[in-house]
Amino acid sequence: MNDNIYNQIKEIKKYALDNKVPIMVDDGIDFLTNFIATNKVENVLEVGTAIGYSAIMMALSNPNVKITTIERDKDRYLEAVKNVKKFSLENRITLIFKDALETSIDGKFDVIFLDAAKGQNIHFFEKFEKNLVEGGTIITDNMNFHGLVGNENETMSRNLRGLIRKIEEYQTYLKNRTDFTVDFLSIGDGIAVATKK
Ligand code: SAM
Repeated sequence: MNDNIYNQIKEIKKYALDNKVPIMVDDGIDFLTNFIATNKVENVLEVGTAIGYSAIMMALSNPNVKITTIERDKDRYLEAVKNVKKFSLENRITLIFKDALETSIDGKFDVIFLDAAKGQNIHFFEKFEKNLVEGGTIITDNMNFHGLVGNENETMSRNLRGLIRKIEEYQTYLKNRTDFTVDFLSIGDGIAVATKK
């Protein structure tokens, strides 16, 4: 990564921090970009663009990869449009401003990256698995949700406990998907890697 690109990435991360936009942690993004760079991935569907950080990092990690990414929050989507332009990646990153659960996507993808509403992962998985190539991989971030999964307690709000329960249900769901090989990795905030058999 040259100095100019490094500084632009640093700016996006600073914007995310200053504006409380959740983006992937460094270990998580290292895993994801390494996966994209080393597995002959040509196209990725990302659910949850935020401001485009992970999409840009994936595109930079592999010059052959194209990314389609969906975001439902207008301000974040507009910020992502700006960021993708800054990197001149408009020809490789397609940004869609929609609710992913109300969007139909055509085409097949080698990797589907789920990084949107954490309580909706089963719905995202079932909606988009038809877009996965044979042998393709669905990667899901935040499986540990800041270390809270498996550690619920009374001091947590009902909403938070509900969210954690949904992540646990998704874990169980993935374990039961015997048509996928599933690994749960303690990397970043916990990453699930489900590869279609
Ligand atoms: N992947 C991004 C990164 O690491 O740079 C971070 C994504 S952030 C954790 C999750 C994003 O998903 C939020 O910006 C949120 O608005 C978006 N989101 C949540 N539910 C969504 C849905 N149903 N459709 C589209 N976007 C959604």
